[in-house]
Amino acid sequence: MKKQILDFLSKISFINNHFSGIATIFMLHRVAPFEQNRLFPNENMKVSSEFLEKFILELKDKGYEFISLDELCSILQAQINVKKKIVFTLDDGYKDNYEIAYSVFKKHNVPFTVYVTTSFPNKKALLWWYAIEDLIIENDELIVGEEIFYCGTYEEKNRVFLQIREKILKLEQQNLLDGLQELFENYTIDWFRNNETVCMSWENIIELSQDHLCTIGGHTKNHYAFNKLDKDEIYKEIIDANNEIEDKINKKIEHFAYPFGGRSEVGKIEFDIIKSLNFKTVTTTRNGTVYFDHIKYLNCCIPRVMLTENFHISNIGKIRKQRVVTL
Ligand SMILES: [Zn+2]
Repeated sequence: MKKQILDFLSKISFINNHFSGIATIFMLHRVAPFEQNRLFPNENMKVSSEFLEKFILELKDKGYEFISLDELCSILQAQINVKKKIVFTLDDGYKDNYEIAYSVFKKHNVPFTVYVTTSFPNKKALLWWYAIEDLIIENDELIVGEEIFYCGTYEEKNRVFLQIREKILKLEQQNLLDGLQELFENYTIDWFRNNETVCMSWENIIELSQDHLCTIGGHTKNHYAFNKLDKDEIYKEIIDANNEIEDKINKKIEHFAYPFGGRSEVGKIEFDIIKSLNFKTVTTTRNGTVYFDHIKYLNCCIPRVMLTENFHISNIGKIRKQRVVTL
């Protein structure tokens, strides 16, 4: 009887190990307080500092260890048999990464990576998701292109946001501003107005880069989806941005995250391009934990797990092992 129980327990522990991988890379965007009556898709890019701190403490309590991307890279290369490693990454370069998240990570001695899109500190980011959020909140009805959208209630506003977002994602990337202006010709919108309040400055990024806990990674110049660009444009988007960051922080950029790194935006063509640039690690937004098999894909396609306020620590063990890379 005892043996049966032990067999059963070892089976369960095998399943848990099998599903949890050796490490989980969390993807965050913003660490900031939630705002009443703002729209869900944008608010969902945030976790609160209270949640982040509680989450870190819970992970520590359960025996998880926090490592940097460089350490993850060394573990995979040496094929060291580890479990329960956690890596935090934050995408784009939001100001709250510096003003709020940094102090939480520092307090608990947790390494983290910020992937910087250089249009953010250059204050040239087309933050259309905040501009259209304001527009939807301020109006009960909108005419966008040929379509009329009714957005009188909070539910309608959230739905309309997603519908308009779909339209914007279909616009040509390099002429995004022209496309937006044409689509919203009935409205006067300053598409850059949130840059000062929302984006990190170069001073913030330089200060972060000097802390041993922080790794600065590349995230392109303009955050265009790669599947809408040709090969030369992709190289330019990556290399120009990384050169600028390297000049500012005086360190080499060795880690990269795709802007829009989902299955529909990046695949074999983009992986081949990125491989030729020899980054130490390249992360996507594909959902999954890291396995030893990922050693082959370190420089082109490592999955992450999006951290949202309702994420529970027990979810880590439940992330099913997917095919490591599906091309
Ligand atoms: Zn991004």
